[in-house]
Amino acid sequence: MIIRILAVVALWFPGFNASAEGLTARWLGVAGLSISDGETTLLFDPVFTKPTWRHWFMGEEFRSNPERVKAGLEAAGIKTAQAVFASHCHFDHVADIGAVSGTTGAVVRGGPSLKRIALKDPQEKAKFEDIEDKKEFMVGKFKVIPFRRQHAAILHKLAIKFLPGEVPEDFHFGFYQFKEGEVWAFRIEHPDGALLVDQGSHFFEPHADFAKKTDAYFVGIANKKSLEDLVDKNMKRIEAPMVVPLHFDFFLLQHDQLEEMRLPGNQIGEIRERLQKAYEPAPNFFVPKRNEEIKILKKIMPAANPGESPAPGA
Ligand SMILES: [Zn+2]
Ligand SMILES: [Zn+2]
Repeated sequence: MIIRILAVVALWFPGFNASAEGLTARWLGVAGLSISDGETTLLFDPVFTKPTWRHWFMGEEFRSNPERVKAGLEAAGIKTAQAVFASHCHFDHVADIGAVSGTTGAVVRGGPSLKRIALKDPQEKAKFEDIEDKKEFMVGKFKVIPFRRQHAAILHKLAIKFLPGEVPEDFHFGFYQFKEGEVWAFRIEHPDGALLVDQGSHFFEPHADFAKKTDAYFVGIANKKSLEDLVDKNMKRIEAPMVVPLHFDFFLLQHDQLEEMRLPGNQIGEIRERLQKAYEPAPNFFVPKRNEEIKILKKIMPAANPGESPAPGA
């Protein structure tokens, strides 16, 4: 009888049952994200070091600040991680990539541009493995499918890009050497849910089918093309039951300055309002607080049969 009662209690309180804990995520500031199943932690774009005017205007080399990295990881409760990814190689996505790898043990996984940055500083003892477009691999119970996409222009009307091209082979932490590099989105599948992590806010046609059928969509909203493009084209095509915006804070300031200041024109309220009407059932638009746990509800079963997976690049 007691065993039966305990079994019922365990069913009612998922915390009693390790396998029912599900996936959790945390926003780390800027575009930084951690995703964990309690055993394995994946990191995306974790950045804690910010440039100052001396980097922008005086040509000072831009290097990771170990104290900020340590404090940032501690504040998010991250001691170890298994893999760290970057959506692209602009400074606000990769400045701490080597340090995060060295500190947490996470293997940096990316393309040749990211490799030049991650392995440049021998002090950091970073580990690196190459990834390829649409070639899936496992990290713990996570299946990761990287998908190449394009970075948006910073001035959409003029189609001007910020530091396009590859990170140079003579990379030495020059501030303007943090070029765009390879640009990625990531589809993540796990027995406890399927996720899409995509820092590119603008609609990217080849991406739409690859990105569908996910429980949560983590999307960078800095520099969106328009509300219509972000919500009606991008978010609506993906139709995730939960949408979590990233990259909406005023990321040029240090973390301890103006903590709550948001990028001008980020239009969080307008995005929410438009998204509620974009598809049925209305998604949970979850604006994260830095370092707070985000619970991901499993609603969409990843296809067990690979033949039924959404065709990448279709
Ligand atoms: Zn960028
Ligand atoms: Zn950025």
